[in-house]
Amino acid sequence: MLYGARGGWIEVIAGVMFSGKSEELIRRVRRAMIARKKVQVFKSHLDERYQGLYAVSSHDGRSVEAIPIDSSIQIAQQLNTLADVIAIDEAQFLDAGIVPLVRAFATRGLRVIIAGTDTDFRGEPFGAMPQLMADAELVDKLHAICVICGGPASRNQRIIDGRPAGYDSPTIMVGGRESYEARCRHCHQVPRVDEDQVALL
Ligand code: ADP
Ligand code: ZN
Repeated sequence: MLYGARGGWIEVIAGVMFSGKSEELIRRVRRAMIARKKVQVFKSHLDERYQGLYAVSSHDGRSVEAIPIDSSIQIAQQLNTLADVIAIDEAQFLDAGIVPLVRAFATRGLRVIIAGTDTDFRGEPFGAMPQLMADAELVDKLHAICVICGGPASRNQRIIDGRPAGYDSPTIMVGGRESYEARCRHCHQVPRVDEDQVALL
């Protein structure tokens, strides 16, 4: 994608798990490399499900090399001053410092490509993704296929022991007992401890 003639902007690829964010990030990174741009790819540590820590890989098996990080400061520390393009995957796991950092990159003339899931398993805004989407010049919100009804999926359904996870389940789970499904708004379930009380609100 070519945006302005003058370099320096932010692109966000948002959407649920399985919506193709990593595929799209990999596509953009490869094209920038073909254009002989110096590209640096970072990926939050917290997501280690599909391959080792050193690659962004999509659910369809494609990958590009990535530097594992778990905070925005680590991106700043490992920045290659010759980079033209910075790509960051799984940005929802990063701290709020990612917002001023990528703004500074864009101001300095870098193209910043950010991929992340914009809502958590409850369907609520996830980490700094809303701020990043607001600040970006370009935002694409991708959809997966709802595993229940086949419609466009915009929600991450968390499943624990075969059942939808409750609202009070932690935003980021450590230990991997949970699994996820892509679902649409109507098939997404987030049970509250006391459903009756919520119905009265
Ligand atoms: P993301 O980075 O958004 O999690 P990926 O790029 O890793 O997405 O994976 C997208 C791929 O996931 C699709 O091309 C498809 O092969 C696969 N996939 C598995 N389940 C689904 C689903 N429910 N809807 C859409 N794609 C799915
Ligand atoms: Zn559905």
